[in-house]
This record gives sequence, C-alpha cells and structure tokens, in this order.
Amino acid sequence: MFKLKTALFALALAGLTVAASDRDACAQSKGSIGIAMPTKSSARWIDDGNNIVKVLKERGYVTDLQYAEDDIPNQLSQVENMVTKGAKVLVIAAIDGTTLSDVLKQAKAKGITVIAYDRLIRDTPNVDYYATFDNFQVGVLQAQSIEKALGLKEGKGPFNIELFGGSPDDNNAYFFYDGAMSVLKPYIDSGKLVVGSGQMGMDKVSTLRWDGATAQARMDNLLSAFYGKKRLDAVLSPYDGLSIGIISSLKGVGYGSKDQPMPFVSGQDAEVPSIKAMLRGEQYSTIFKDTRDLAKVTADMVDAALSGKEVSVNDTKTYNNGVKVVPSYLLKPVVVDKTNWEKVLIDSGYYKRSQFD
Ligand code: BGC
Repeated sequence: MFKLKTALFALALAGLTVAASDRDACAQSKGSIGIAMPTKSSARWIDDGNNIVKVLKERGYVTDLQYAEDDIPNQLSQVENMVTKGAKVLVIAAIDGTTLSDVLKQAKAKGITVIAYDRLIRDTPNVDYYATFDNFQVGVLQAQSIEKALGLKEGKGPFNIELFGGSPDDNNAYFFYDGAMSVLKPYIDSGKLVVGSGQMGMDKVSTLRWDGATAQARMDNLLSAFYGKKRLDAVLSPYDGLSIGIISSLKGVGYGSKDQPMPFVSGQDAEVPSIKAMLRGEQYSTIFKDTRDLAKVTADMVDAALSGKEVSVNDTKTYNNGVKVVPSYLLKPVVVDKTNWEKVLIDSGYYKRSQFD
C-alpha cells in the first residue's frame, strides 16, 4: 500500500512537472504568428506553409497556419480571427490583393506587424514589409527559355506563340507578364513571333484564380479558332498548374507525337507533375522559387520587427501598392529545364530523386 501511494505521488508530481514545463514553453514562446495561405490546391503553397511554420517554431514562435481554398471571404475571416486571437505578426499570401484593407486597419490599430508574403497586398497603408521573389525576373526567365528553345536570338522564325497570364487580382501576374513581354515584344514587333490569336495584354490573356481548367478551356478555344492548319510553336504559361491544363489541351489535338512535337511551354514553381511532364518532353521549362529561402527571409523579418531591430530589405522602389512603396526583400528565381533540374532540385535537397522514378 505504501508503495502504491508513493508511486501515485510520484506520478502526480511528474504530472505537475509536465504542466509546469508546458507553462514554461508558453512563457518562453516569442508570441503567435498568423500565417494566411491562399490554397492547398497547389503544392507550392503547401511547401510555403510547412517551411515557414518549421522556421518560426525553431525560433520559438507559436504559429497559426490557415489555408483559404481560394475563397476570399474565407481568407478574410481567417485573418480577422488571427487579429482577435492576438497574433503579433501577420504573414499573408493574399488570394485577392485588394480585399484586406479593413482587417489590416484593425491589425494596425492593435500594433500588429503585417508582412505580405510572395504576393503584394494592395490599396492599404497597413502593410509593413513584402517578402517575395523578383517577379519581373520570373517573367524574363520564362520568356528567355522560349527564346532559347526557338533559337530566336540566332534569327530563326517566324514562329507562332500564344500568351497566358496569371490571375488579374494577383499583383504578381502583371510583373510576370511584363517581364516576359520585355523579352518577347521585340520579336513580336519584328514578326519573328506571331501571336496567332492576336490576344495580347493582361486584359485578354489573364486566368482568374490561376485555374488550370480555365487555361485548358482557353487553349481549346484558341486551337480550334486559330490553329486549324497552322502549327503552334510555343506557349507562354506563367504557372505550372496552367501549363498542365494547356498541355492536356495540346495533346487533345494531337501535339506531343513525332509528327507533331509539343510546342515549347513554360511554367513556374517547379511542381512535381510539371517536372515529370518535363521529363516526358511535354513541358519545356519551369521556374524554381526556393520556398525554404522565402520562409527564412520572412522569419528574419518577423524576428527583426518584434525585437525592434531594422528589418532587412533589398528593394525600396519597385512595389508600389497603390498607397505606398512597400519595402521588399526580393529573392532570385531560377529557370529549370531538362538540363539542370537534378542539380537545382535534387542536389539542393528540395525534392528526393525517388519522387521522379
Ligand atoms: C506566385 C506563383 C504562383 C502563382 C499561382 C503567384 O502569386 O508568385 O509562384 O505560381 O501565384 O499560385
């Protein structure tokens, strides 16, 4: 009996110790960081979420990660919740960059630091920093890969091309398009590239919510309306999810065979299905944006902002959100094709080789 009592006492004591250490963990926590991501429908945002939670936890923060499945009201209420629950910093990858003004006003009133993550938050003074990649350069690299594939620099052509843009409510989409056009436009002007449909400009080529099915349907229409007899040689696609839709449409009319090789299709995010499509010779290139680096830059911003240190940025000119220029940290995107994918994606540990066997 005595032994049992002692054992029970010891257990109770252990329980108390655990409870106390839990409390210590909370007391030691540097505060809660709200992370609002747009959707789980694209692997890149899942990687973003996981990476940023990992880095912030390692640095002693509590994290509240939410995905909104591309539903604007859903994201709004998630961010409102974070504000109510006392987040110290908000890290937001917006679905629609223009819809968060009211909640960010509340956040500012509570002294919360707001970081726009990957996508600029527009039309509000209440965004403090922007962590992203050089979005104009993403477009430049996409277009340069098409330029290289077609041999445009060597004077080859004329070739037929179609252009796709990203979601019109995402500020990045305009940077990608403008970057790409800075390379392609001179060839279009000189007649070495011909946009068979004549559809140019974000008002004509954008793809709402970056939806692959929408891109596929548009490609179907373009092929049947403009390419009955003509061959399509290249497609500027700003995102892998669109590229996959575009490629299915192209396959549907017979591209991807010996007699009718696939047009050169670009992409972005180095998502696994697109790397596999690249290895099958269907997608030509993609752009790798290392979300581990973006997580680190963002966590550095969180740390600095909360400890009253200077937040490190490397661009204070480019990203005017309609109200102010948001101080930004821009990372470098990397073009990936069949020639360098293993070096860039496997050797760096981003993916495992076995994912592509
Ligand atoms: C991101 C891209 C991504 C696209 C679609 C953009 O804001 O910068 O990396 O491909 O959204 O998710």
